[in-house]
Amino acid sequence: QEHIVRNSTQARYNSTQASLQNDIPSTDNRGFKGHDMLAPFTAGWQSTDVDPLIIEKSEGSYVYDIKGRKYLDTLAGLWCTALGGNEPRLVDAATKQLNTLPFYHSFWNRTTKPSLDLAKELLDMFTANKMAKAFFTNSGSEANDTQVKLVWYYNNALGRPNKKKFIARAKAYHGSTLISASLTGLPALHQKFDLPAPFVLHTDCPHYWRYHLPGETEEEFSTRLAKNLEDLILKEGPETIAAFIAEPVMGAGGVIPPPATYFDKIQAVVKKYDILFIADEVICAFGRLGTMFGCDKYNIKPDLVSLAKALSSAYMPIGAVLVSPEVSDVIYSQSNKLGSFSHGFTYSGHPVSCAVALEALKIYKERNMVEKVSRISPKFQEGLKAFSDSPIVGEIRGTGLILATEFANNKSPNDPFPPEWGIGTYFGAQCEKNGMLVRVAGDTIMMSPPFIVTPEEVDELISIYGKALKETEKRVE
Ligand code: PLP
Repeated sequence: QEHIVRNSTQARYNSTQASLQNDIPSTDNRGFKGHDMLAPFTAGWQSTDVDPLIIEKSEGSYVYDIKGRKYLDTLAGLWCTALGGNEPRLVDAATKQLNTLPFYHSFWNRTTKPSLDLAKELLDMFTANKMAKAFFTNSGSEANDTQVKLVWYYNNALGRPNKKKFIARAKAYHGSTLISASLTGLPALHQKFDLPAPFVLHTDCPHYWRYHLPGETEEEFSTRLAKNLEDLILKEGPETIAAFIAEPVMGAGGVIPPPATYFDKIQAVVKKYDILFIADEVICAFGRLGTMFGCDKYNIKPDLVSLAKALSSAYMPIGAVLVSPEVSDVIYSQSNKLGSFSHGFTYSGHPVSCAVALEALKIYKERNMVEKVSRISPKFQEGLKAFSDSPIVGEIRGTGLILATEFANNKSPNDPFPPEWGIGTYFGAQCEKNGMLVRVAGDTIMMSPPFIVTPEEVDELISIYGKALKETEKRVE
């Protein structure tokens, strides 16, 4: 690829630099090359040819690998360790519960106190729309699978057997189980898995920078997307569409905050055709956006809500579904007829997970975490957005403590760098070399630091980002 001149521009891949492989921190001698794990979201060659980065210890916003190297963990695990790596109160809550009652289930009207307390707490905390019940799962994927079953059960109870289709959005991420992967709008989760399931439709991704027409304002863009959604509903027949699902800010699909007026216009359409609105708050909830929930920030009034991740600060696996009274009343009447609501998991409402989640929620409140995130996020957002002028940056976007950088040529979404140049991978490797872990997805770099991140750590993050960006710029002349 030496000296490829790109289109009208002068951007070239500078292959005189050290090869990409040489810039990735040495993984030699870890001794786990060709390991035995079928690793999630990892290519086979990475499991057989390269030693994995093995994380051994965490402390605040940092993690350490087995060689003792320290990294600023800018994705907070997988957008989840909101309270950082060693919050003793969460460890104590788990230990105490393990010593009292490590497990009991919640089937057949038997349950445990932590699960009841957590359900009550969540219903009190969520105020964007009144919620009547909480159902517990082990993950965000299970929460979204549960959403589909609840909605089908609800429409069957109402005598609407044809109202079963779901509308999600291109680039959404809703999980990787069969149904949640179907809702997800990323081709990699569908390819060769025979997905999406036929009852799932995808509408536009609300990414203004990438998809707006020349001269179109954000408001006009939102109007067009709402119109497209309405057209899709009318084409399919409103009587066949059961629910619409959306993340308040799209996360894994590239951190895409909604354009101005988007959710107002989308909600109006959804309401018009008696379609339920599901808010997937798995990333956004509990303060990430500087509000307790993403729904609070964008004035979303959902019928159903999915939660996970920061719910327990990821110290124990747990997810939840919140159900509005209108939906839960119908579900109750149906289960009375049938004799049971036959859905649940052995670990639904696991007492240790619930005890940890209760403690996490208590900490968020006591430490005014929403306010804390609001205070620190301008430093994080503005500090990184200051790099928007870089000739290799297309867009830096985000809100609160979530942000993405998309590399592109000529500041244009239509002028990506050739994938084989590995611009994003190179940037990620430079960050790693300088003691920082970021999420690399092609030429998009994502970050969502823990809520407890300090101003000094944000300074360090910005400084390493700047260094990595400079090194990456040298690759493209
Ligand atoms: N929904 C959203 C918005 C997510 O970001 C994720 C995971 O990243 C999920 C659902 C799936 O959650 P899990 O990985 O816990 O199954």
